[in-house]
Amino acid sequence: MRKNLLIKIICSFPVILVVGYFVPAIAVILSLFRYVVYGKTHFFRTPIVLLIAGLICLLPRGLELAMTNFNFNLGIPYWTEIMAHPLYPKFTDYGKFLAIFSVILLVVTYVLRSFIEGLSNKFSSLASSYYQDRAKRDDQIEKDVKLESKIKEIEAKQNTPHAVKCPHCGKTNHITGTVGRCKACRSAIEYKGK
Ligand SMILES: [Zn+2]
Repeated sequence: MRKNLLIKIICSFPVILVVGYFVPAIAVILSLFRYVVYGKTHFFRTPIVLLIAGLICLLPRGLELAMTNFNFNLGIPYWTEIMAHPLYPKFTDYGKFLAIFSVILLVVTYVLRSFIEGLSNKFSSLASSYYQDRAKRDDQIEKDVKLESKIKEIEAKQNTPHAVKCPHCGKTNHITGTVGRCKACRSAIEYKGK
């Protein structure tokens, strides 16, 4: 499961953060899906990384508030342009969303840790047993195919006439299979094989 590159890419942080900017609900679903894919190894990583991303989004807003309230100016270049940019409010909203969501996720993860752990363990064991079953089935199919071709090979051998010289009268008979009867003297003859 964890080795599946596509799933890994889909629930990677860059994808979650970019998609979440446009459709927050998908970011929520993908973040929850990370618990299933990564299990307890990434337990607190998901909410913490999202929280950091949210705080980074909120940084300009925080600076702006601090500068207005405490009456100072850091002299950041293009500051007024950044504040006036039409994307700025949306960016701030996104930061708020990420911060709130990640804090909720953090609390839920902390409270439901053992439950989520059990769930992800169950899911990964289900997935691995599915792959084992499939491997077993493939093995069985392969065995069946081999057996079938072996049978065909044997049948083909049996159907090929063998030249057998009769030990009694010396006549050469052509028999299918390994035993037969001499056409001349009716005594039993046997093909001894190679
Ligand atoms: Zn004979």
